[in-house]
Amino acid sequence: MFGRVAALLNDPMSGLSSLGQRLARAAHRAADLVVPPACIYCRKPLAVHDALCASCWRTIKFIRPPLCDRLGIPLPFDIGGTAISAQAAASPPAYARARAVAHFDGVLRDLVHQLKYGDSHIARRLFGRWLAEAGAELLGQADLVVPVPLDRWRLLKRRFNQAAILSRELNRLTGVAWDPLVLQRTRRTVSQVGLTHDQRRRNVRGAFAVAPGRAAAIRDRAVVLLDDVITTGATAEACARALLRAGASRVDVLALCLVTPDSMINP
Ligand SMILES: [Zn+2]
Repeated sequence: MFGRVAALLNDPMSGLSSLGQRLARAAHRAADLVVPPACIYCRKPLAVHDALCASCWRTIKFIRPPLCDRLGIPLPFDIGGTAISAQAAASPPAYARARAVAHFDGVLRDLVHQLKYGDSHIARRLFGRWLAEAGAELLGQADLVVPVPLDRWRLLKRRFNQAAILSRELNRLTGVAWDPLVLQRTRRTVSQVGLTHDQRRRNVRGAFAVAPGRAAAIRDRAVVLLDDVITTGATAEACARALLRAGASRVDVLALCLVTPDSMINP
């Protein structure tokens, strides 16, 4: 066995990467046996992996119907059929429909922060399941999922794009194709944290474009734009405009969290 490994290590052309992959898979299986399942937030023991315990679960404020069909925000009462909020009627978005899993609050807020800034992807499988459920209608009509891109400097600093991680997870669960290279930032934007609605809109207006080599991939395609948190919708709006300008037949927006006006907190 040692001789075989040594031979592989000495000869990089003889399958080192497949050996590495096999070792990584074996390590994964071993970790599954050794690490007992626990709540992904408070580490309380559970029966299954990638889940929350009951008390952490209770802090998640899932977004349930009745919803504004355009903005995906909860409506105060059900009038039956498709309803549009006053906000969407006054200022219709470029995208067709937005849907989000839950409000940006409680344990979810901390988990999203960990995903975004903390280099911890522990919640990605749970988030993927929630997104697949909240976005079932949108994903059922989609040709492609496109994550909102980070700018190059932020990507270098964080080393990953959280929206791309969620898109890959969705692809694994639903089979809907995804492409992280469709959208690109055309200029640097300042962080949206702490900006007002109008400042956010100005900050991201015209800041996104479809990559020249990707235009054919989205022409006449129904696209689901994926982001982690929708605050004012300014980023989603700017991305949707870029996708539609490049020929997408329709753009829907799917996000993990929604910051509603009554819980206006900057992510
Ligand atoms: Zn817990």
